[in-house]
Amino acid sequence: MTRKPINLDDYVEGVLAGTRSWVGRAITLVESTRPDHRALAQQLLAALAPHAGRARRVGITGVPGVGKSTFIDALGVRLTGAGRRVAVLAVDPSSTRTGGSILGDKTRMSRLANDPAAFVRPSPTVGTLGGVAKATREAMVVVEAAGYDVVLIETTGVGQSETAVAEMVDSFLLLALARTGDQLQGIKKGVVELADVITVNKADGPHAREALMAARELAGALRLLHGADPGRLPPVLTCSALDGTGLDQVWDRLVEHQDALAATGELAQRRRNQQIRWMWDMVRAGLLDELRDEPAVIATAEQVEQKLRTDAITPSQAAELVLDAFRHRSTTTSRN
Ligand code: GDP
Repeated sequence: MTRKPINLDDYVEGVLAGTRSWVGRAITLVESTRPDHRALAQQLLAALAPHAGRARRVGITGVPGVGKSTFIDALGVRLTGAGRRVAVLAVDPSSTRTGGSILGDKTRMSRLANDPAAFVRPSPTVGTLGGVAKATREAMVVVEAAGYDVVLIETTGVGQSETAVAEMVDSFLLLALARTGDQLQGIKKGVVELADVITVNKADGPHAREALMAARELAGALRLLHGADPGRLPPVLTCSALDGTGLDQVWDRLVEHQDALAATGELAQRRRNQQIRWMWDMVRAGLLDELRDEPAVIATAEQVEQKLRTDAITPSQAAELVLDAFRHRSTTTSRN
């Protein structure tokens, strides 16, 4: 099937007009790894960037089953009911392995997926965490340029995905479950440190009391953890994504967090620092791609891997040989 050539102006106009189908198409373009698409995607992002950046960006994490999709569905519908336009994106590197995207799946957020003021996009499935995170960051530019003023980015605790998401949002929300005793054990420590707001979900019915106790215990544990810097303590709340209790309060705290950052100029600073780190991420990824594509490097790598297997050389000697092969690569070969 021959396809019409891509007309970038159509994309820019469509996205800026907030037309859902164009937003979807634009994200598909930025997710594409085809070199000709990459070039077009960069032009598209450059045209959209001046119109982006005005949304509240919130990351949401928690173990599978904690209620993330139920929470996002319920919160999202409240926000659109209050006149906001909500985009839901996801970073789920595991979806690249299973072949299907789990997070952000439309069937998991049925109300929001059918809400004309919302846009739900599953996690991109483009290989590494770095690739998935990059595609999601770029999708964020698209949805913001399209006028979505709340961007919720969902992630599981797979690999370093929380850190990747924390790097692209203003505020990070951790959903937790009520488990007494070892509150911090069930949650990866690094994730607690990333959280700006924590809420114990499923605080309903017979579990309401238990959730409240768990929240208190968690808050106490956090005081110990943060010790010296109590000003940075994330608030710990309880909520029920199922019946809606406490959702407004969770949102209020997220808004407070972002507004406090904005008032001191920290928000702009944080976003600028994120941009700089993203740039270096991309430089690193680009260099690695180039290195891996280099025939001299491929040949050397095979040899040094063999030597490593027989303990003939040390890993640092091996690394030096691979880097040397890259440094001394032939630059006269034509590149396309
Ligand atoms: P996710 O894997 O984190 O996205 O979790 P889901 O949103 O799919 O929820 C997992 C299960 O927990 C589902 O059966 C939900 O109905 C249930 N659930 C989610 N939120 C709540 C809640 O606030 N209270 C109760 N009782 N159940 C909930």
